[in-house]
Amino acid sequence: MTHPLLDLPPLTAERFASIERGVADLLATRQDVVITQGEALLPLEGCIRSGARPGSTALNVVTGPYGTTFGNWLRDCGAAVVDLEVPFDTAVTAGQVARALAEHPEIDFVSLVHAEAATGNTNPVAEIGEAVRAHGALFMLDAVASVGAEPLLPDAWGVDLCVIGAQKAMGGPAGVSAVSVSERAWDRFAENPAAPRRSYLSLLDWKERWIDAGRKALPHAPAQLEMLALEACLGRIAHEGLSSVTARHAAAAAATRAGAAELGVAPYVGRAAEAAPVATTLRVADASLVVAKALAADPAVPVAAGGGAPTREMVRVNHYGTAASLPVVEAALTALATALGAEPAAAVAAAGTAWTATLG
Ligand SMILES: *Cc1c(COP(=O)(O)O)cnc(C)c1O
Repeated sequence: MTHPLLDLPPLTAERFASIERGVADLLATRQDVVITQGEALLPLEGCIRSGARPGSTALNVVTGPYGTTFGNWLRDCGAAVVDLEVPFDTAVTAGQVARALAEHPEIDFVSLVHAEAATGNTNPVAEIGEAVRAHGALFMLDAVASVGAEPLLPDAWGVDLCVIGAQKAMGGPAGVSAVSVSERAWDRFAENPAAPRRSYLSLLDWKERWIDAGRKALPHAPAQLEMLALEACLGRIAHEGLSSVTARHAAAAAATRAGAAELGVAPYVGRAAEAAPVATTLRVADASLVVAKALAADPAVPVAAGGGAPTREMVRVNHYGTAASLPVVEAALTALATALGAEPAAAVAAAGTAWTATLG
């Protein structure tokens, strides 16, 4: 008996290349795209290990937990690291980045997270990109939590390495990811004797064995199920229209924020313009208790407690992918109201109004 997930014909090089073009279209990029066969930490680590080396200096912008991971990899590569840390309930400004670059002219690599799913903030990449381009450093962006949720234009913004994953707003699986790589970034990798080669982390191996070889033969068996799932989620986004998908995420964020306000719950990210469309974080006194009660009221709602010291008092509503919908937001607010011993009606009504206002 054949099984829908098993007994599949091999994924051809043509099909793989066409999925790659689908990712390039999604990112509106003319750069090379490498679809990496693993969760997004794979290309993020691959980019840092390929770009950083002893003698290089990196500006590592820390606006949430991933920045700490990047800083550790950069140091591990022997790079000098300038950490620019801002409170996780705000965004970094282009002015702060420009100042750090001016204070450290030797900076040749910048790592930044676009949207932070964990803390619910998002950074102004277009303006930051201008500052980085003026300085001339290589610019790596973690766009895992922004792709599909908000505008993402790596070429227009001067991003050299734009890393995405399928598992957030794209509504896909976690086991596949991708990175767009500029000519400048390829040159920088090629000049770096410490860049991984003959390694699962190596982006240069993919360039040599797949891209430069004309995309005729895959270097090894691709993660077939994840590739097919990525193809399916690209198709679903194309069918809905990328701008509709991002508008739906913006509406889910606005609706969650408005509903929470009716419940007397403050947003963790104070300024709405700095709040990520992928997930809304809220301040509550005892997050794990509130989340436990909310999940007891409705086990299906996408709410989670923040992890770690600064987020003990944070509840996160993950409204991404198919969860970026008014019914899901209403259900999350209703469960939170139950957890807080409040009436949900006004919150649900406010969410509906904000949803409609955002979608125009
Ligand atoms: C989700 C996410 C990733 C992927 O990491 P996981 O720990 O597997 O979820 C990377 N970067 C950002 C900013 C993310 O939100």
